[in-house]
Amino acid sequence: MNDCLFCKIIAGEIPSEKVYEDEYVYAFKDINPVAPVHVLVVPKEHIACADEVTDKNSGSVAKVFEAIAKIAEKLGIKGSYRVVNNCGENAGQTVFHMHFHLIAGGSFGWPPC
Ligand code: 5GP
Ligand code: ZN
Repeated sequence: MNDCLFCKIIAGEIPSEKVYEDEYVYAFKDINPVAPVHVLVVPKEHIACADEVTDKNSGSVAKVFEAIAKIAEKLGIKGSYRVVNNCGENAGQTVFHMHFHLIAGGSFGWPPC
């Protein structure tokens, strides 16, 4: 866990462009945005990926979604955004501290593949 990039960002050991923070959640701009709005919303609790969500840590995930609603309001994107969570290398996960991509401002395709 000490080697985790997002734990270091949450701790302020690595700089980031903060968008939102509370006791449970940290959100910051993605370094390589794929849309005009691309924010990473991260539980402060280290959970590697969605596979590891249990009844003991699911409260952190709920807090992420409470934060997303607040961030959407703050950024003026309510009702017009996508939330993406990649779980595992095959799904494109590259940082193994669970996070949610909050993406808006572009045109979205569906299905994604
Ligand atoms: P994943 O591919 O795991 O779903 O998403 C990881 C995201 O983290 C990528 O969109 C990538 O651009 C972003 N990222 C990787 N390293 C950093 C960093 O040091 N700072 C910030 N702000 N974003 C990062
Ligand atoms: Zn971590």
